[in-house]
Amino acid sequence: MKYQQPIYICAICGKQHRNIEDRIKRETACFAQHQADEEKRKQKELKVQKHKEIENAYQKYITLVHEYVSKYDEPPVMNYHCKLNDKETRLIREIMESVI
Ligand SMILES: [Zn+2]
Repeated sequence: MKYQQPIYICAICGKQHRNIEDRIKRETACFAQHQADEEKRKQKELKVQKHKEIENAYQKYITLVHEYVSKYDEPPVMNYHCKLNDKETRLIREIMESVI
């Protein structure tokens, strides 16, 4: 029977190697990449979720203001003070300008 050289396969990407050292190096690199990709995917999913929360909160805000104005015929006076930095102020202004 003819000797067959063993093949070492990366468990993550399936690439074949002639020796175990190369497979271990490949798997280590592939695993690190896999973890980085997974983290990126989770962060993207979280961003989408946060965006939906903001949209829902904004929709609720608009509904409440509409109800208030319809009932009292005046805008609700906002008596809160919120400290925002320049970047936050600029971004919120952009958001408000985009929805009006
Ligand atoms: Zn691999």
